[in-house]
Amino acid sequence: MFNIVLFGPPGAGKGTQSERLIEKYNLVHLSTGDMFRLHISQDTELGLKVKKIIADGLLVPDSITIDMLEEEAQKYPDAKGFIFDGFPRTVAQAEALDAYLESKGQKINSVLRLDVNQDVIKERIAERSKISGRADDDAEKLLKRIDEYFNKTIHVLPYYEAQGKVTTVNGIGAIDEVSERLYAAIDAVK
Ligand code: ADP
Repeated sequence: MFNIVLFGPPGAGKGTQSERLIEKYNLVHLSTGDMFRLHISQDTELGLKVKKIIADGLLVPDSITIDMLEEEAQKYPDAKGFIFDGFPRTVAQAEALDAYLESKGQKINSVLRLDVNQDVIKERIAERSKISGRADDDAEKLLKRIDEYFNKTIHVLPYYEAQGKVTTVNGIGAIDEVSERLYAAIDAVK
């Protein structure tokens, strides 16, 4: 198995690039943001619980997020590997993910950090908000998401750096260019 964490702030391009990576490396895409949005669109119990938290641009509590992620991952016992997109977003989530993978005799092989500056993030999400229909894409909620990123999520990086797993990839440029950089980073450790 080859398990990748795609790491970066909102608007870094994690979702877009994940689509490319799952094709090229035959991996399963696990995006907690997509899972939450599906729950919300289907009005499930979980969806109703997290709807406002997400619309406000805040992180969903760890226990809810971790349980949902593990339940989803269980559905793919034959996967060649996973791309974790938008997860882990806290150190507690990273620890839970390591424990989960270890219980399956697996691990995270590579953490790819998409590096983009705040101006680019804001531009991209302003563009996306015109078509995404996402309540959390408006300018004020985006600032909340960026706050959450710098208060909580950024600490995930030193956690994986201590394990020697982080590769930083320049996330600015054409989608294809960024993909090529990610492929090179993966092929270097695969
Ligand atoms: P983006 O990366 O563009 O912010 P995502 O689709 O990854 O968007 O996440 C959207 C929202 O879903 C987050 O702002 C947060 O409210 C919630 N969410 C997604 N993943 C997690 C997570 N791992 N932990 C807590 N909340 C999460």
